[in-house]
Amino acid sequence: MLNATLLLDALMMPAVLLRLVDSHWIVLAQNLLATEKWGRFSERELVQMEPKLRFCWETNSATEQQKTECCGHVQRFIMIFSPWMLADGKAVLVHYVPTTEISYPASENDNLATRFNLVVAGSKGGIYDWNVIDDSVYWSDRMKAILGASSYQFSGKAAAFWERVHPEDKKHVEDSLQGHLVHCWPFDVECRIRTDAGYYVWINVTGQAVWDAQGKATRLAGSVVDITDRKRAQTEIQEREKLIESILDALPLNVFVKDAHGCLRFYNEQTEKTTGISREQAIGRTDFEIFPPQVAQSNMLVDMRLRKDGGTVIAEELIHKDDYDMWLLAGKKLLTYHPAGGHPEDWILSFSIDITDRKESEIALLAAKETAEMAVRAKSDFLSTMSHEIRTPLNSVIGTASLLMDSDLDDEQRIYVNLIRQSGEHLLGLINDILDFSKLEAGKMLVEHEPFRIAEQLDIVSRIVSSLATNKGLQLKLYLGETMPEVVYGDAHKLRQVLLNLTSNAIKFTSHGEIRLEVILVKPENQSDPVLCFSVSDTGIGIPADKIGLLFSEFSQVDASTTRKFGGTGLGLAICKKLVEIMGGQVGVSSELGLGSRFWFSLPLEVANASLLEHEIKPISNLKEQTPLTILVAEDNPSNQLLIRAILSKLKHQVVIAKNGIEVVDFVQQASYDLVLMDMQMPEMDGLDATKAIRALGGRYAGLPIIALTANALEGDKGRVLSVGMNDYLSKPIDIGKLKEALQRWSS
Ligand code: ADP
Repeated sequence: MLNATLLLDALMMPAVLLRLVDSHWIVLAQNLLATEKWGRFSERELVQMEPKLRFCWETNSATEQQKTECCGHVQRFIMIFSPWMLADGKAVLVHYVPTTEISYPASENDNLATRFNLVVAGSKGGIYDWNVIDDSVYWSDRMKAILGASSYQFSGKAAAFWERVHPEDKKHVEDSLQGHLVHCWPFDVECRIRTDAGYYVWINVTGQAVWDAQGKATRLAGSVVDITDRKRAQTEIQEREKLIESILDALPLNVFVKDAHGCLRFYNEQTEKTTGISREQAIGRTDFEIFPPQVAQSNMLVDMRLRKDGGTVIAEELIHKDDYDMWLLAGKKLLTYHPAGGHPEDWILSFSIDITDRKESEIALLAAKETAEMAVRAKSDFLSTMSHEIRTPLNSVIGTASLLMDSDLDDEQRIYVNLIRQSGEHLLGLINDILDFSKLEAGKMLVEHEPFRIAEQLDIVSRIVSSLATNKGLQLKLYLGETMPEVVYGDAHKLRQVLLNLTSNAIKFTSHGEIRLEVILVKPENQSDPVLCFSVSDTGIGIPADKIGLLFSEFSQVDASTTRKFGGTGLGLAICKKLVEIMGGQVGVSSELGLGSRFWFSLPLEVANASLLEHEIKPISNLKEQTPLTILVAEDNPSNQLLIRAILSKLKHQVVIAKNGIEVVDFVQQASYDLVLMDMQMPEMDGLDATKAIRALGGRYAGLPIIALTANALEGDKGRVLSVGMNDYLSKPIDIGKLKEALQRWSS
């Protein structure tokens, strides 16, 4: 029962515990406040509440009842009846809760005493009234309840309060009290005070003193409010704020926040380190107060744009420090701040991270890439210049050897001259490979987009390599898929180059059996349109599985002994791969050691109308006897001049040599020529400009046949040559057959 009494004492309102025994209600316990109110719980009270008590007892459910009491004033209560389980059986707890509604007795006049009582009764806080002269204090019940103290435990002296104030708070409460009593400063202080149970509660004490004529305080009255909950909530908020701050401080990020006026409100540790400006210097200030004006100005512009457009701004920023530069990846975002009781405001959250290391390596990488690209460009330029320089005399060697072959030679001489010509052609092939590769590597190779006949290209390739195959006793078979379009768009020259390379390899690495050159239409997976698939299959030595992956890399050959046996540079397949790729296709190979290989490549299919090729220059198959022509040859290189003169003279033509473009334009106006053979690269004026100048003369010059002689067949300059008004082009070294064909075509 003692426990129940203690529990009841903890209630802030009068409370009684009752039990029904043999149809009689007996009081099991009542708390101090009830004792103060009634002394002993009265029979009259029991009669009034009997029906509700019964209801609660019988249904085990809580109920309530209004009650009004008159005791100098009218006080309204709600009586709450709750079922209560005790160790020895059930009981009903009745406690009285005053309602806030207090009305003044109509019969009485307002007077101070009544009002004071009402205020004391209605106040949520405790009330005290301290007589400073005799040190007696009136403490209201609420005040005692806050402290959890009974009237007996809380004497009517000020000391009863002071001895309970937390030692750490005593001084500032005393200072505040003296400030009020002596200097009339407002008395409003928060402190901790010990309850009877031994723990501390937070209270807010306010008061107003009364002073005598000499200015001595004689009385102090005021209120005490329990603010423990508020303090606890405040402490929790502060702790959470501290936690968030320490998390933001621990981040290797600069984080700071500006309010609606641009004043810094938050500034983390990393920002202090990065800027060298402490939190104390920064908080409450604008950028203009802490940063150099240009920096503050540019920050302000970004902030203004953000406030206008919203969203998030992320950018890389370069910051110049005294002795080094720092790169930051910085972001800004609008935050909506809700001040207590005020309108929401737009604040700006800024965050940034040091990316100097990454940026420096990026810059270094970029510089290295540029240097590497420059080196590749330089290499490619060097190679193309060198190969051009080498090709010119080589053309003379091959051409002269060809001329010699047609002259009267004995058998031994013929073998030697043939050797010279073959070696020259081999060397030219190597130079062409190197030149092609360097151009492809430097991305300088242009792809043509012209209509051509697929069958014709296959035919040309097979005619070129057929003697090689026949010499080795190999069969060369062509296969053209059934549904193939006749004419397609593409770069016939590059296609031929790839096919020639693959077919020559197939012949080179096959000793018996057959070579199959095939083109079909294939529809790759995940692609709606079919593609052209060319393949070259052989029954040769095959390729070991572990070497297949390297085949298309430059300078790669299956093994040294193979290389020695078969020769080659290892550039051919690398060139094929790059050529196919710039034409938009893919390459691949499958092979079985000892059984043969199949090299294939795909090209995008773009069908062209066959009528586009109706007006093309058709090869003249049956060469008729050519009537002698007067030909103007533009050529700056003396040995080439010699060679071309010899070839043309041998073909019974009259030859005039001009050593540059200016001379050509001059000569054509002085005499009449049947045709001009125009070198492309010449000093003073090149072939293109000379042609333009001749065509610009108009009249008969407009129809004068001009055939370009280009040293670099792969330059893809057929388009350029035709666009300035030339009629045809021949590549060097000059193929006598092709030259004859062209002369016949354009002289007729
Ligand atoms: P090259 O033939 O000038 O050495 P390629 O790049 O054309 O250079 O070929 C690289 C290597 O691939 C060759 O040296 C050879 O070892 C291998 N190879 C190419 N084609 C075939 C083939 N049809 N059969 C067997 N091996 C081949």
